Amino acid sequence: MKFGTKAIHAGAEPDPSTGAIMTPIYQTSTYVQESPGTHKGYAYARGKNPTRVALEKNLAALEDAKHCLCFSSGMGATDAVIKLLRPGDEVITGDDLYGGSYRIFTKVFANYGIKFHFINLTDANNIKKFINGNTKLIWVETPTNPTMQIVDIAACSAIAKENKLTLCVDNTFASPYLQNPLALGADIVMHSVTKYLGGHSDVVMGALMTNDDKLYTDLAFILNSCGANPGPMDSFLVMRGVKTLHLRMERHCYNGRKIAEFLKNHPRIEKIYWPGFEDHPNHAIAKKQMRDFGGMISIVLRGASLEETFRVSSSFHVFSLAESLGGVESLINHPVTMTHASIPKEERERVGVVDNLLRLSVGVEDVEDLIEDLKQALETR
Ligand SMILES: *Cc1c(COP(=O)(O)O)cnc(C)c1O
Repeated sequence: MKFGTKAIHAGAEPDPSTGAIMTPIYQTSTYVQESPGTHKGYAYARGKNPTRVALEKNLAALEDAKHCLCFSSGMGATDAVIKLLRPGDEVITGDDLYGGSYRIFTKVFANYGIKFHFINLTDANNIKKFINGNTKLIWVETPTNPTMQIVDIAACSAIAKENKLTLCVDNTFASPYLQNPLALGADIVMHSVTKYLGGHSDVVMGALMTNDDKLYTDLAFILNSCGANPGPMDSFLVMRGVKTLHLRMERHCYNGRKIAEFLKNHPRIEKIYWPGFEDHPNHAIAKKQMRDFGGMISIVLRGASLEETFRVSSSFHVFSLAESLGGVESLINHPVTMTHASIPKEERERVGVVDNLLRLSVGVEDVEDLIEDLKQALETR
């Protein structure tokens, strides 16, 4: 089956008791057993819930994965992956990461004796310099947040396999519509379902997909043991949202391209980050591993102070100033004070997260209105 058909149908069976076409919200914490231990696969809802199981089947299909597990947030999913490790283990990851990933690595798991190397992954060969006997995991985000670096997933996978390391890819920015890391050799895919998959800014959720039975069993054990499980209502909302993922992504990509082209030669823009430009440093890799380039764009305002950047970011009428991304509505974000506030100044500036950087999550509105809004906001001084 092709992507759009799977988005609508995978995991969604008509309800056997009524024929309801939409998967019911099984709002229950437990399941009745006829005699002890005779449950029908469902014993307690932290472990399993039928609405969640339907969603997991659906999301697995979108990544062509054998298994999927849903979590109460993207961070809950990330937390579970790192809990596969032991004290003394080492992780190699990128130097441009979602702020919350950087925070959980450095402020939570570093305290448990796990060591993280934050390196430039735009050349995957850099990984080799950091591999030693303790290395267990490579954690890749691509495109990166917020500077849209592109990491070569297949090259990372080759290095991971050669050294018997696990490769996990945070595929949030691309969504399964644009990129399928398992097909490129990754062992685990992580999604903040909150973003494109949910798509309507009304749910916080995370997911992990894998083809590896052992990883699945271990991660399911961690999910059930640690309890970052999502509720059935949220699972329902995501199943509903996913039904239009392919349509939304098409428009995100179309609008993203139009806006990137509009901004590229705008006199107020000093720098623009969007992997669809031929002069993007890893455009060729983006073209190879992604089907299109998405609706995430970052811009640096020419010579703007922090105050001026604030004034611009508050003068939009259609874009809303907010954290998060991937919803139907266009958002603007100031990484330094919002999504990336937890990263020390020297570290973020080294990768280009400067005071006058703004990140756009281009929504699915009419692009003419979005461009008009950008035009007027960029006149603000
Ligand atoms: C939002 C986000 C996360 C964290 O997901 P939550 O659902 O907010 O917990 C992780 N990685 C990326 C790239 C994100 O954008």
